[in-house]
Formats: sequence, structure tokens, C-alpha cells
Amino acid sequence: MRPTGKLHLGHLLGALKNWTALQDSYQCIFSIADWHALMSEYANSKEIRAFGIDMAIDWIACGIDPKKTILYLQSDVSQHLELQMFLSCLTPLGWLERNPTYKEQLREMTSRDLQTYAFLGYPVLQAADILLYKADGVPIGEDQLPHLELCREIARRFNSTYKKEIFNDCRAILTETPRLLGLDNRKMSKSYGNTINLSDSEKEVEKKVVSMITDPKRIRMTDPGHPEECNVYSYYQVFAPLDAPEAHQWCSKALKGCVDCKKNLSTHINKELAPIREKRAPLEKNKDKIEDILKEGASKARVIAQRTMAEVREAVY
Ligand code: SF4
Repeated sequence: MRPTGKLHLGHLLGALKNWTALQDSYQCIFSIADWHALMSEYANSKEIRAFGIDMAIDWIACGIDPKKTILYLQSDVSQHLELQMFLSCLTPLGWLERNPTYKEQLREMTSRDLQTYAFLGYPVLQAADILLYKADGVPIGEDQLPHLELCREIARRFNSTYKKEIFNDCRAILTETPRLLGLDNRKMSKSYGNTINLSDSEKEVEKKVVSMITDPKRIRMTDPGHPEECNVYSYYQVFAPLDAPEAHQWCSKALKGCVDCKKNLSTHINKELAPIREKRAPLEKNKDKIEDILKEGASKARVIAQRTMAEVREAVY
């Protein structure tokens, strides 16, 4: 995960809940990908470190347990870059230029100049991130499948070039996650300023939920609404499934207004965030401890990384 800003509900549903569950059945390695962040945020690089620490706090507050998993900062394990170099040598330019998310990001992230050598090559660094640990599986959503396929192709090309089966074919651990739009019905993203963050206070959550766009056809309280067309209702289905049928009635039969409907929703979101806030507070006051956790994670990661790099160098030279 790239530390480019505060984590929000999308991260909780799309990754963290799943990762927390995976810790019990796999030896997990979770990386705060600060070099990936640098590829797009190179002009605002001073913030990356602080976002990385904040990310670790959020992860631990959400249930990632450093005793069960390896949790580290990517730039603390230099072998990621070394392996990226070896893999870059044999990755055809065409594979990178065809990458659909590369083109999409160039279109979407217009506030930064991403026409750079590093940004074109980010899937190679991603491949190195996975292959360095010889991962059996990578927890991803369907939209990330092309990246994993690219990683597999790079791994096969390495193995066939050097005639050694160094890297295995890692598989996707696909998980269905509910998709949430941002407060303004656009894709949830910090760059749109439409997120509810895991670190938001109760008041901030209430204020943000009140600002959510509703069914545009429901102008007066007496107008029956169309919950299926309202983003607030889709949040009900995720954060208050037991209240969703009732909210449907309030809306479609014009029994309650949008303000009350939203107030009830924010209570549920705050209930979901309460245990995270509780775990977050002491961690925020003890950032040295977070630094120690990351250092310890990096030394464990380095042991695996050094072993792989010894095999890689032996295969190449
Ligand atoms: S009552 Fe609730 S679901 Fe219906 S339009 Fe208003 S906020 Fe949306």
C-alpha cells in the first residue's frame, strides 16, 4: 500500500479487513510501499515518511499484528531495488506501455508529471516486491489481476533466460469487497477530498456524512425517494445491513428526511470506527514504538530478501 495520504473506509473494506483475516492462515508480509509513493509524489517527498508511520498506526489499529506478520517500510529493504534492476533488464518496454492502469493513472493524476522513466517501470518494482519473498499468493482485487499477470510473465522470463526455476508462479488471493463511492459519488480518493478517514473524529464523520450527495429526485421530505439511486443507502448496506430495510422504507415511503437518515448512518460508521480509534490513540502517542516495529519487520524481511538475491546473483553471473 502506497503511503500518499490518510487511510479511509475504502482501504478498510478493500484491504485491511481481508489482510487481518489472512494473518491466521498465512505467513503474511505487508509492505508500506514508500518507493512506489515516491514515483508519483517525488515533488512532495517530505510527507511520505510521516504518511508511512501513520499508515503503520492505522494497520495495527485495524488488527494487523506485528507478532504474526512481517510489517515493514519498503525503503528499509534495499534488495527491492536490486531485484527491480535485474528484472528491468529483461522486461520488454511493450509490456509496460500496454499496462492498462499506467494509461489510466496518466489520465487521472494530472496534477503531477508522471511521464517518467520510474513511473513507466512501476510494475517491475511491484514484481520485485512479490518475487523477492517468493510469495505463493497476493491478496488483490480483480482490477489488479493484469499486474499480477505481468509479474508472472517477468518471473517466467527470468527463469527461462537464466535456465533456473528461481521464481514460482504466485497466484491471486481474490477477495470480494464491497465497492464504496466517495461522499460526492465519484471514486473514493484522497485527491478528490471525498473520503471518510480511519482517523476522523466522530464529529468529522457526522459532518462528512451530512454532506453526502443523496437521491437528486427527492427534493422535499414529503417526496418519496429512490434508495437504490442514493449513495447513502449503499453505505447502509455495508455499515448497517440490519437497518437497511428500515432506511429503505423511510426513503421510499417518505417517512423520514435525509438528515435523519444520514444521522443514523453516521452513528453506525462511528460504531465501526470506535475500536480503531481506541487502538489508534495510544499508538499515535508512541511513534518510537512504531519505528521499532517497522525496523524489526525490515530485519525479518531482509533475511528472506538476502536469500533470494543470493540465488538471483548466482543464476545471472
Ligand atoms: S432518505 Fe436516505 S436513502 Fe433516501 S435519499 Fe435521503 S439519504 Fe438517501
